[in-house]
Amino acid sequence: MAISRPGKYVWIDGELVPWDQATVHVTKLGWSTMGAVFEGISAYWNPEQEQLYGLQFAEHYARFLNSMKLMRMETRFSVGDLVQASIDLLRAEEVREDVRVRPLAYHSEGTWFGTLLDSPTSIVISVAPFTSGLGTGQRLRACVSSWDRISDNQLSPRIKCISNYQNSRMALIEATLRGYDQPIILNSQGKVTEGPASCLFIVRNGVAITPSITSGILESITRQSILQICREVLGIPTQEREIDRTELYIADEVFFCGTGAEIRSVVSVDDYVIGSGEIGPITSAIESYYHDIVRGRENRYAHWRVAIYSRVEQTA
Ligand code: PMP
Repeated sequence: MAISRPGKYVWIDGELVPWDQATVHVTKLGWSTMGAVFEGISAYWNPEQEQLYGLQFAEHYARFLNSMKLMRMETRFSVGDLVQASIDLLRAEEVREDVRVRPLAYHSEGTWFGTLLDSPTSIVISVAPFTSGLGTGQRLRACVSSWDRISDNQLSPRIKCISNYQNSRMALIEATLRGYDQPIILNSQGKVTEGPASCLFIVRNGVAITPSITSGILESITRQSILQICREVLGIPTQEREIDRTELYIADEVFFCGTGAEIRSVVSVDDYVIGSGEIGPITSAIESYYHDIVRGRENRYAHWRVAIYSRVEQTA
């Protein structure tokens, strides 16, 4: 059954709450120092196997707890608890399509200004439909943003704090108004960082190159997975290093990656055509292998997936 809009439940602090009752009083949102962190997680439906695969749930919740820790938010829930909560929610929703699982931790007794340390933290998890772009041949036109990426000593881009996404939003709005699909954001040293909600790879002379984890990027799970797939399966050499702006323009291939972005080819940057202007062979090989992993067709990285429906339930 397709998940309805709205869904049936929201998981809130250990309970599956009916959708209509999952409300918050407007004054609890806080005001000038609203504090929240979030995650973006995917689950893919495999129609042949009649199975829903949660992707890298434990990795996402480990990062979620790191985001909370950095923002000094307390919680009684462990990675294991939150993985189980997500499984319970997907089962309760009877999901049989690709979806996003969306956890948010926020100060639930919002304060008006100040430390927020006196406000308790709530965790809510909801599910939303997701349209995968894998295998659809999408090609993006990107531009270099005029906005700098926030840095580790300002608001750390390493974590998923909602405030960071105002920086992403400014860059995305600017790119959209200029007629591009996505911006590529540079750090204040002028080096390439990432997209507004994805990491970035370039390919030069057969080497897949991505900015290092200290260049002002999110600690991306997909970036790490791609580095692993390149090294362990596809035999593609990799480098994690600074990337200059002009390397974007003369790269053979450029692609964004992320749990939501998946693997998305960039065919021009600032109107410089990348390679032949088509999806490159390395981007294509990575995308196709990644697609097989997430849909449960490739078992080398089966430990990245959690099967939501057990065999007993499937046959019942
Ligand atoms: N950078 C940013 C700013 C993001 O929001 C995302 C999406 N979570 C990514 C990179 C990709 O991270 P991941 O591979 O963990 O989804």
